[in-house]
Amino acid sequence: MLSFWEQESYIKADYIVVGGGITGLSTAIEIKEKRPSARVLVLERGLFPSGASTRNAGFACFGSLTELLVDRQAMGSERAFQLVEERWRGLQKLRQRLGDSRIGYHQWGGYELIREEERDCLEQIEAVNEWLHPLFRQPIFSERKEQLSVFGFSRQRVQTLIYNPLEGQVHTGQLMQALAACARAVGVEVLTGVQVERIEEEASGVAVVALDPARKSEVPFRAEKVAICTNAFARQFLPNLDLQPGRGQVLLTAPVADLPFRGTFHLEEGYYYFRNIGKRIMLGGGRNLDFKTETTTHISLNNSIQEALDRLLQEVILPGRPVAVEQRWAGIMAFGPVKEPVVHQQGNRIAVGVRLGGMGVAIGSRLAERLAALLLIG
Ligand SMILES: Cc1cc2nc3c(=O)[nH]c(=O)nc-3n(C[C@H](O)[C@H](O)[C@H](O)COP(=O)(O)OP(=O)(O)OC[C@H]3O[C@@H](n4cnc5c(N)ncnc54)[C@H](O)[C@@H]3O)c2cc1C
Repeated sequence: MLSFWEQESYIKADYIVVGGGITGLSTAIEIKEKRPSARVLVLERGLFPSGASTRNAGFACFGSLTELLVDRQAMGSERAFQLVEERWRGLQKLRQRLGDSRIGYHQWGGYELIREEERDCLEQIEAVNEWLHPLFRQPIFSERKEQLSVFGFSRQRVQTLIYNPLEGQVHTGQLMQALAACARAVGVEVLTGVQVERIEEEASGVAVVALDPARKSEVPFRAEKVAICTNAFARQFLPNLDLQPGRGQVLLTAPVADLPFRGTFHLEEGYYYFRNIGKRIMLGGGRNLDFKTETTTHISLNNSIQEALDRLLQEVILPGRPVAVEQRWAGIMAFGPVKEPVVHQQGNRIAVGVRLGGMGVAIGSRLAERLAALLLIG
């Protein structure tokens, strides 16, 4: 039972965005900026975002050399280039919208650790730089073998390094707080702790039925149009969507005295990644060790993957320098048969923007532009 006041002021909106991660908040901001008089409401099931956006590694990146070579092979040159462009332009948009200092952005460059079996990629550096030239107007990748001894990585396991000067990193928590503040500043309303159960398009609007934990009953929100931004959880509303959840595991070390490197680092076509957070090392990946178990929306740790991360840390990244691991966590991403995200209209009043893979920091803002454009037509 809702009061007159609740019906008048709470449950009706012009636009409802379901999911309060980086895509949902960015979409709400886009809509509100273009339609300032509209009531734009974000419904998020967690007390704060509870998927990937507050749990990721904060790489502001557009692909390591081996990752791009694999993408070119799998997607073809044109589509792979477009994806790099989306990632790059998305990062520029994010930085411009929120400001580098508010999101803890540092462009300390990125490196890829190259093993013996990947050495062939060195011959491709020039061709890849030429391929990317229309976008960056400067060579992106270069070999930096001399940095190996500076950084102290295992010489048995790492043959050389490839450097990308345009790669950066963000403070993921600060980014999401800044995005939420930006949403509030433009007049977006965000309700948290609201689990949306059903979304039903009707002739005159969309019914968005949510669970209210306090009343233990359903609340029938209503909007002219709805954006679904629930990423890995989207099959709740769209069971036929070509999307699989993919859990990502990370660990965080205690501060390391005289940490010899800073920046972002990739290994094995991006399946592993690490960076500095101050003097700490954040290391993640290893989904490829156990794809079956990691195809889940359940946020929990996988011991065998965590043990593999421990070994990588001790044997390759900091060989001979034991360091304590202070935190471990997991987050849920979404993947599909192709690497591009899903952005499409569903009926006349609903648009879907999901499946951001491990690229959401970079492409979230661009996806939001496209999603808002779909909803604002008409
Ligand atoms: C460990 C890890 C490391 C990563 N590292 C990077 C990185 O370095 N760089 C990078 O670019 N990307 C990285 N990613 C990927 C990136 O975090 C995601 O692509 C991005 O956060 C996706 O944002 P999103 O808003 O689309 O989805 P999410 O952040 O998952 O947001 C979806 C939201 O929908 C909410 N929701 C779900 N169902 C409902 C419902 N029924 N009702 C209401 N709300 C609901 C969820 O609680 C969630 O908050 C990483 C991801 C993980 C897990």
